[in-house]
Amino acid sequence: WSKKDFSWTKKLEANNKKVFGNHSFRPNQREVINATMSGNDVFVLMPTGGGKSLTYQLPALICPGVTLVISPLVSLIQDQIMHLLQANIPAAYLSSNMEWTKQQDILRDLCSGHCSYKLLYVTPEKVAKSDALLRQLENLYARELLDRIVIDEAHCVSQWGHDFRPDYQSLGILKQKFPNIPLLALTATATASVKEDVVQALGLVDCIIFRQSFNRPNLRFSVMPKTKKCMEDIDTFIKDNHFDECGIIYCLSRNDCEKVAKKLQEFGHKAAFYHASMDPNERASVQKMWSKDEVNIICATVAFGMGINKPDVRFVIHHSLPKSIEGYHQECGRAGRDGQHSSCILYYSYSDYIRVKHMLSHGSIEQSSFASRSTTLNSGRLLETNTENLLRMVSYCENEVDCRRFLQLVHFGEKFDPLSCKKTCDNCSKTHTLVDKDVTQIAKHLVELVKSVRQEFSGTYILEVYKGSMNQIVKKNQHDTLKLHGAGKNVAKGEASRVLRHLVIEEILLEDIKKSDLYGSVSSILKVNEKKACNLLEGQKTIMLRFPSVVKVSKSTATT
Ligand code: ADP
Repeated sequence: WSKKDFSWTKKLEANNKKVFGNHSFRPNQREVINATMSGNDVFVLMPTGGGKSLTYQLPALICPGVTLVISPLVSLIQDQIMHLLQANIPAAYLSSNMEWTKQQDILRDLCSGHCSYKLLYVTPEKVAKSDALLRQLENLYARELLDRIVIDEAHCVSQWGHDFRPDYQSLGILKQKFPNIPLLALTATATASVKEDVVQALGLVDCIIFRQSFNRPNLRFSVMPKTKKCMEDIDTFIKDNHFDECGIIYCLSRNDCEKVAKKLQEFGHKAAFYHASMDPNERASVQKMWSKDEVNIICATVAFGMGINKPDVRFVIHHSLPKSIEGYHQECGRAGRDGQHSSCILYYSYSDYIRVKHMLSHGSIEQSSFASRSTTLNSGRLLETNTENLLRMVSYCENEVDCRRFLQLVHFGEKFDPLSCKKTCDNCSKTHTLVDKDVTQIAKHLVELVKSVRQEFSGTYILEVYKGSMNQIVKKNQHDTLKLHGAGKNVAKGEASRVLRHLVIEEILLEDIKKSDLYGSVSSILKVNEKKACNLLEGQKTIMLRFPSVVKVSKSTATT
């Protein structure tokens, strides 16, 4: 697809320069354009900032009809349209909260003989709910003026993804109604299972897949223990490394955003906060100050970021645990879009895990701005997926050994040689030597303990019994009389907890989520997956984990 002799190649190159002002194509842009212009269904996985928009805006410009773009967020659409109009490319959008007469004008224009728009943006609910829109699309289709359908942020289709949006699921109708129209699905974040889900739900046929490395060599990743003096640590870090530079601090709750911003102001930084419950004018004004560099640090929930196209963000700090590795990767991706070195630091404490989990189960967590609220009302499978995603994040944070890039990229199904990290993450920069340690005996004990407490208790409890705790609950349950009570008293707690999480990640132990009270709060109970556990218990499986030569027990893991 990278060949240069398609009938449209000359036009493509000329317009890329003249209209978009680009001297060349970025990786995969030309290939994607050639594949979609040849009439194929195409799935594109390209990191944030990779240049996905060009892959449909440029074809739209040189094709005769209209390109339909489904995009999740009105503010993002408005931003795109503003850029298109500035480049003299006629574009419009339809959304439910637009005046009815304006919507009518656009629809009427679509069905008139000379459609004035090259691109029509709509939100997914518009496709799901507007018969008028579908009728006009049918009209365009019949006149052979529907060139292409683009699904932006396509991972929202999948319940396995981190931003499931129910309205996206109805987009399958597009392929049914317009089977001959090439579909282009774009996303910056999808694991193999999310990709499968998207391909199926949208009904993509013989789809051509483009993916490129999600590695961002200019970002440096570290995880730091979150202590009581976290704010002082953040202040020192910024002053020492990024004084007066631009950054984002992601916080868990609205309250946290405000508190963190206030503290930073006290420390002398130009900081502001941003979250979904602020009034739209206030939010717009913060965004404006940020783009004009009047404010250089934004303390925000994940609602901040989509459509923010600031190239010189020098640091992204997570003040608390992100919900998933995908989300984390995307949030970090907002740093260093200009290719310059930038830092991503995550402050981790195990207590944040409990907090996030609690918020997830209560639907009280703020989603990235386009995820609809209904996705936060957790029901069965969704809560399970969310908890699983969160657990992966915990295991990422607790891992003090493996390359951070390797850990992130493996999640996206990408192979990465840690040697290529070149000490640009905290773990690869550590000077201590690493040793492979056989933890099979600890693993066996933990699995046997889960069985002997009749698979009715949480991981935290199992670790307590293993360490020999004599707390009231242990005594009340008479678990101090178990053979394995205290079997791990000489094992460092951090080490035991890493083995336990490894067993969960390997699915030798399963976390069973139970609603434990009227308010729907959840607890997770460990069960044994007999199928996978038998090899271990019968001595056919060895478990090796890598540890620093002196096992360091961080404060964070010690609280488990
Ligand atoms: P994505 O949607 O993948 O996050 P965008 O489409 O918003 O990325 O593009 C990110 C930035 O890169 C934009 O400012 C865009 O103008 C710029 N860009 C895209 N393609 C090119 C190119 N071929 N050459 C130079 N800049 C480009």
